[in-house]
Amino acid sequence: MTNRKGQVELAKEDLIKAVNQVLGIVRRNGRSRKVGLALVLMVLLGGRSSVRNAAETFGLDYANLLEALGELEDAWRDYLEVLSGLVKGEVAVIIDDTVDHKEYSRGKDVSPHGNYWIYCHTHGRFERGVQLLTVAIVDLSTGRTFMVGAFPYAVRKMLDLGMVTEFKTKIDLAREMLDVLKERFRVSRVVFDSWYWSEKLVKENVVSELKSNRRLLRVESAQGTLEEVEGHLRVGDLPPGVYYADLTLGGQAITVKLLVREYKRDSGSHVKYLYTTDLSLSEEEIEEAWRMRWEIEELHRDVKALGLEDSSFWRRERLQGYLTIFTIMTNVVRELVGELNLRSVEAFLRFVERHLGGPPGLMKIFKLR
Ligand SMILES: [Zn+2]
Repeated sequence: MTNRKGQVELAKEDLIKAVNQVLGIVRRNGRSRKVGLALVLMVLLGGRSSVRNAAETFGLDYANLLEALGELEDAWRDYLEVLSGLVKGEVAVIIDDTVDHKEYSRGKDVSPHGNYWIYCHTHGRFERGVQLLTVAIVDLSTGRTFMVGAFPYAVRKMLDLGMVTEFKTKIDLAREMLDVLKERFRVSRVVFDSWYWSEKLVKENVVSELKSNRRLLRVESAQGTLEEVEGHLRVGDLPPGVYYADLTLGGQAITVKLLVREYKRDSGSHVKYLYTTDLSLSEEEIEEAWRMRWEIEELHRDVKALGLEDSSFWRRERLQGYLTIFTIMTNVVRELVGELNLRSVEAFLRFVERHLGGPPGLMKIFKLR
């Protein structure tokens, strides 16, 4: 076991190395080192990572820092380049969404730029917040998971209510992201939940879940016995088993391999309807890919633990810049958590506070005073 002093030295070295790499991306637009550092280190101020707080801590002009956040649109693509260097093998892309609660946002109404008024399904009400599409990749050769990005989107309801004039659905956004990722990674699985059933996304290599009320055009058990499809058979009518099923997707029929599984829980049994468009996948491979989806839940938890929800912005490009910084730093911190044998992102933030001296210590480490 390394002693505390050794661990602190290691943490400093690793942190300097990691931050310098991120700084290289953030400063490509010719931003000052100090502004770049403030943007990056803001994430490590734990639980109070507001931009205003970062400006005060690092003695910078708040307006300047906000402006710098709005000019990071190239940083994300540059970071993809870095990521593609870290990833060794084929990848699974996981697509999901989360509510980025903005409890402290002063915006009472919707902002045309940031959309800070959304319907939250978890809490069943309109709340201050932003809907984010989140994307992660799992390196299938090493099992390492990376956050790829978080992107705000508007929901149809907002368009219907006249809250926004222009929007992309999360499906459109997911499609765009997938295309960008396919240019840089060898994508062999795409995993998302049943909300993304769309001809734009359900293409090759998809492993996902069907809603039980989807209608079946034709179904055949994997053993080759044809099931009787009289009337209107739905996915939820099938007993546990493996099937080849035809369903309507957009204007066409599509064949999927469908895995109906019953899981016993303390609360009773519940049934999952997993499917894949890759008919060669085994049952185990389908279930394994589906389990990867939970990796992104952990990323949601980690990025929020770092303080993602502490800052709000009126301008969308600033929000996007902020999300880019958090995406990159979430990966950096998770890496450091592993190297330092810590248990969680929260434990890392406590480590920074206790053993690296908090914000003044960070300023010293990075020679900011
Ligand atoms: Zn909520």
